[in-house]
Parts: sequence; C-alpha cells; structure tokens
Amino acid sequence: MSTTIFEDLESNVRSYCRNWSAVFETARGSRLRAEDGQIYLDFFSGAGALNYGHNDPDLKRALIDYLAADGVVHSLDTYTDAKRRFLVAFEEQVLRPRGLDHKVQFTGPTGTNSVEAALKLARLNTGRTGIVTFTNAFHGMTLGSLSVTGNAMKRNGAGVPLPFVATAPYDRYLDDPSWSFSWLAKTWADASSGVERPAAVIVETVQGEGGLNAARAEWLRRLEALCRAHDVLLIVDDVQAGCGRTGTFFSFEEAGITPDIVCLSKSISGYGLPMALVLLRPELDVWEPGQHNGTFRGNNAAFITGTAALEKYWADGGAFERSVAERGRQLSTGLSKIAARVEGATCRGRGLLAGVHFPDPDLAERIAAAAYERRLLVETSGPQSEVLKTMPALNITREELDEGLDILLEATCAVLA
Ligand code: PMP
Repeated sequence: MSTTIFEDLESNVRSYCRNWSAVFETARGSRLRAEDGQIYLDFFSGAGALNYGHNDPDLKRALIDYLAADGVVHSLDTYTDAKRRFLVAFEEQVLRPRGLDHKVQFTGPTGTNSVEAALKLARLNTGRTGIVTFTNAFHGMTLGSLSVTGNAMKRNGAGVPLPFVATAPYDRYLDDPSWSFSWLAKTWADASSGVERPAAVIVETVQGEGGLNAARAEWLRRLEALCRAHDVLLIVDDVQAGCGRTGTFFSFEEAGITPDIVCLSKSISGYGLPMALVLLRPELDVWEPGQHNGTFRGNNAAFITGTAALEKYWADGGAFERSVAERGRQLSTGLSKIAARVEGATCRGRGLLAGVHFPDPDLAERIAAAAYERRLLVETSGPQSEVLKTMPALNITREELDEGLDILLEATCAVLA
C-alpha cells in the first residue's frame, strides 16, 4: 500500500502512543489476525471495551439480524424498539436484582461524556461547585473529566484542573488511610477551614489507568458514610472496572455501597460500539429537558449488542460470573509468578483487571514490548507506566489465559536476562 502523510497508519498527530506496529485485519474472541498472517493474543481488550472479546458470535448475530431488517441505527432522542429492549433488559437484569431504583440516562458516546454528565448533575443538584477526586484517578479527556484526573502529564497543556477540583489521597496512598477521611470530614464540617463542602466525590474502585490501585471494601464503605454524613454525592466511575470486569457486574457490589451516580461505558455495548450512560438516584433527576443532550446518545446498534450482552451475562444462572471469578484467580496466580521474579514487585488490581507493579519504572514497558514481540497485546498503567496491566476478555478460555501468562513470564525472563 502506498501511504501518504500517515507515516505509521494510525494518525499523524503526536498524541498517539504507537506501541504496536502490526496492521490488524480480523479478530475473533481473544485473537487478532494481522495482515501478515500473524495471530496475536489479546490481553488488552480495547482497554475494557471488549469484555466479551472480539465479534462474539451471539452479539454479532443480533447486530446482523437487526441491520438486515433495516433497524433504526441513529435515533438521538426518539423512542426506538432497540432502546426500549435495552432499558427493559437493564432494569430486569441489572437494577432490580440489586435493589437499585436508579434512573438511566444515556449521555454521549464515550466514558468521558458520562463523567461530564455526572459532574454537572452533582453541581446542579447541590448548588455547590466543588468536586473531590483522588490521587492517580483517571476520568477522561474532556475539560471537566480531565480536571478530576490525577495525572499531571495528561492534564498539562490543557490548563486544568478547573478551580473547583480538590484531590484527596486514595486508599493506601498514605501510610495511614484514615487520614483522608479525617481531613475531608474536618474541612467539610468546619466553616472556618475555608474549604467549601463539595457537590460530590468521584472515585474508581480500581484505578484502571492510575496503576491498578484497588480500594478496599472497608475504605469504600467509609467513603460512602462520610459522603452521606455531609450530604455530599458519591459518584462511582465504573467505566473501566464495571460490566463484570472485577467479578461482579458493578465493581462496587463487593463493598455493598450504593453510589448516588454511576458512570458506565466501555463494555456496556458488549461489542466495542460507543455507548455511555449514568445511573442516578431518581430524586437527582432535576434536569430541564435538553439541559444535557448530544447527537450520539441514541446508538441503536449499541443497544442491540448491549441487550444481547446482558442476556449472555445472565444466561446460565450465574455461571458466567462464576467463570470470571475463576479466571480472575487463575490470572492472579500467573501474575504472582511474574512478580516473584523481581524483588519488590507486587500484584495489583482485582478480578480480570490486574497486573504487576515494578519498582523499576521501565520494566513494565520493556516486558510489554517483549510480549508484543511474542504476539501478546498487553498494556501498562500508572503515572510512570510502571505497572504491567492485563485485561483479558471475560470469556477468555482457561487455555488461552494460560498461554498468555506463559508468554508474559517468558517475556519477563527475557527482559531480566
Ligand atoms: N473513566 C475511566 C475510569 C476510564 O478508565 C476511562 C477510559 N480509560 C474514562 C473514564 C474515559 O472513557 P473514554 O475514553 O471512553 O472517554
């Protein structure tokens, strides 16, 4: 192929990462095929957008049937059968069994749009402006969501954070984690502190981009109690950790907390199609009609695959969730073997969002590069990319997971040699 100004086929803008040079043509399950015929194993899963792998046959069939019948693809705010089916499935299979009476709002196509909606909603409801976020958080790339992102490199150049954002220490960031709570509680309660009580706190239960730090259930419960005591809204950003990735549909289920607002995106369509939503307590629905809208809120192709994905998730009486938990244990065992090779390396994360933190910040990148040479796609995470991050599809087979773990161990040994 003769290329023009697109020297490396992705884009000619500098902000892309360009870790992988292969040109992929087809993909199925956890495997991608490059144009040179090489087959790659996927431990990246579109950063969590492909929890069901590539082109899952059931989801693909639902989509093909819908398109073959000339189903509406773009609908924005109009009612469609596909949207209704998704909402009914979501209520019956996600909300009601968990005792959640939250309303569902489609926000815009991507995770960052759901975070924007959540921040705006919190401010609109409370009449307050402040948002508390945490060290190493990642919430998106638009100005509001970037403002609550705890990564200076990503914020630099955009002139954010916006003035209403404060950053508190995430669980285990400090030696004494209770310090975050006493600091917040005192400043919020004390009018002379000069700190305005915020509209909301936004938190990830596992910091997917920020280094796979996983908050403990107890820490999350204390955070919820603190927010309740001070009438501050709790937003859980489940864009990356949600949709089954940590072993339960919502990542916060294990902690038994009920956020006021939940952000979901990435794997909610199940097929890598753009879709995002927020869940909000019914009393928070104070929007004026049209106050938060967007052209691509009605992606019916995503509703179709999203409905099929929900059916798949619960099709066999919880067997899917149990197998995710099993794969999670298998992953954790494999990652511990890698961590054991390097002094001071530790395992991070939860479920199928897990990795290894290395004391030498270059090691994770070098191992990921060595894994790519062995045709395994794997990413890094953390402020200095010091965490090797694995996110296999939730339906990866035991054998595929072992194969990928073997490659990772081999890549680690090759880098250390
Ligand atoms: N929140 C979290 C927790 C994320 O991990 C991401 C994306 N990595 C986003 C928000 C932003 O999502 P998107 O890239 O789809 O805008």
